Order: sequence, then structure tokens, then C-alpha cells
Amino acid sequence: MTLEGTNTYLYGADPCAVIDPGVEDEAHLEAIRSAAAERGGIGLVLLTHSHGDHTGGADQLGAEVLLPGGGETHAGLRALATPGHAADHVCFLSDDGVCFSGDLVLGLGSTIVPPGGNSLAAFMDSLALLQAEELELMAPGHGPWIEDPAAKLAEYVEHRQMRERRLLAALDRGERSRAALLAEAWDDIPLELLPMAAMAMESHLEKLEGEGRLPDGLTA
Ligand SMILES: [Zn+2]
Repeated sequence: MTLEGTNTYLYGADPCAVIDPGVEDEAHLEAIRSAAAERGGIGLVLLTHSHGDHTGGADQLGAEVLLPGGGETHAGLRALATPGHAADHVCFLSDDGVCFSGDLVLGLGSTIVPPGGNSLAAFMDSLALLQAEELELMAPGHGPWIEDPAAKLAEYVEHRQMRERRLLAALDRGERSRAALLAEAWDDIPLELLPMAAMAMESHLEKLEGEGRLPDGLTA
């Protein structure tokens, strides 16, 4: 079920687990309660990360709310620490290859990796971690199900690598202006997305710096 774009999932039965209850909205919470009632009630509310559009109604479902650490198993779901979009992000994996991917991998478009704490390096590690799993299906926090997880993961990796290649090419040529770097490495996006791209570029620059590959002298 979706509301304002956030997907909520019910997993298992007698009782079920609710994954990412979404925003605090009475109609949405009521829909969760009634769907869960048909599955023997709610035993546990699991969160993929602490952003408000996933957690808003969590406390109103009358069950324990948990954002587990990586390696923990709850309600038959294994949590995998997958920082990048958020530092506390986890994905939930079922025994039969379903991955509840939260905002790490989305059904539509590209996920945001805000700069700070070397988030993009962590994000790439998180994608690699999922690539090492046998996944049949991904159930993302936004957008439709992903029926070919391996292809989607490869696309996500390639997309960031493409940006990095373009950024490095401009840097290698001696470009040091952020505005020029952005215009060159993100020349294919609509104007209204430039602020998002500028943020993405900061994450890339941070990653390059962490790897000792960022030259000095960057300007605005
Ligand atoms: Zn989020």
C-alpha cells in the first residue's frame, strides 16, 4: 500500500511484521491495521531507516518499533546494514530471496545519497553487499517492485561510476570550478534537478577525497 509515495509492506502472519509504516496519516494507518488483522495482527514494526516518510506512524500501531542493526534477525527477516542514503539504513532479507530495500534502491529513479560521513563510499559498499546475495525480488520504499534485482543493482553501480568517470576526466584536465564540473559531469539532467545534482557531486567529491584522488584548489 502506498501513500504519498512511501510503500508499506506486511510480512508473514500470526502475527505479521509491518515494514516502514510511512507517514502519520490516520487513513493509511487504518488500512495497515485492517490488512494486518487478516494476518493475525501486528507483532513488530520494522524500519529501514529513520527518515520521517518511513517512520511517521510507527508508534501508533500498538506494537514494538525496531530499527535493527545489521546481522540481526527479526520476524524471519535478516537485517543487512546498508548505509548510504542514511547512516542507519538497513535492508531486510527473507529466506526466499525477497529484499525490502527501503531507500537504498528505489523502484523508480535514483536514490539520494547526501554528502557527509563518506556516504557515497558507504553506498557503493552497500550495493556490493546486496550484489553478493541471491535476490529474487526487491520491494523498495518507493516505486514498483524490482523483478530483476541483479540488473537494477548493476544499473545503480554503473550510474555512479559513470558520474565519477566524468568528474575525474574534468578534474584530470585541470578543471577546478564546481559550477563547471557540475555542468560537465551532469550535462544530461533537466535544470530543475541541478540543486540535487550539486548535492550528489559533493558526495562524489567527498568519496574521491577519501580515496586521495581529489586534487587541491577546488573553487565555487
Ligand atoms: Zn529516506
